[in-house]
Amino acid sequence: MHKLDKTDLRILTTLIDNSRTSYAALARETNLTIPSIKTRIQKYIDTGLIEKFTIILDENMIMKGTSMTFLLKIKPSHLDEVAKKLYESPFIANMTITSGHYNLIVVTHNMHDKDKLDFIKHINSLPGESVIELVSSINLETFLCKTIELPSSPINLVIRCDYCHREFSGEVFSKAILGRKRYFDSPICQEKYEERARKYIKGELFRHPDEEDAAKK
Ligand SMILES: [Zn+2]
Repeated sequence: MHKLDKTDLRILTTLIDNSRTSYAALARETNLTIPSIKTRIQKYIDTGLIEKFTIILDENMIMKGTSMTFLLKIKPSHLDEVAKKLYESPFIANMTITSGHYNLIVVTHNMHDKDKLDFIKHINSLPGESVIELVSSINLETFLCKTIELPSSPINLVIRCDYCHREFSGEVFSKAILGRKRYFDSPICQEKYEERARKYIKGELFRHPDEEDAAKK
């Protein structure tokens, strides 16, 4: 699957609004049969287009306090490591690595004053004096994270080779490896990825093939 037709866009738009919409309701809406709706949704999952079905909770009903924004300037050589460490914190709502003066931007969930102190201490205890600068502010109002708005006319999906990460639109080579469908721009890339996967399963390779690429970058 590397194109989304009008029907796909209709199904996805409906699911974005309410992921509990039944197969039957989607079938009625699109004039498709329930099995073909199931097949389409399975495809979105297999290709990684749908990452997961989740729920949105009203955080304010669970946690008092205020959310915070942290602007951090991290030593570039430590950036990946610091980002990974910080992301493990349960307070993180979202995090972005940027190219600006502050290269790491963190938005937290609601925090009590004690949590804030702990979190700042945690940041300052990061190894190797990696934090050069830290600015924090209290968020006064946060708007809900918005999902992308889908167009109404067919679109081509941007597919990247799972091995070399090049964007491509030509012939697609695909195979289910390590629990999901992988896409490659050439049989060579597919073979190389499969080799890594085999080694990973045998325990000869410590990192998952996908993580290995991230580590190299
Ligand atoms: Zn490739």
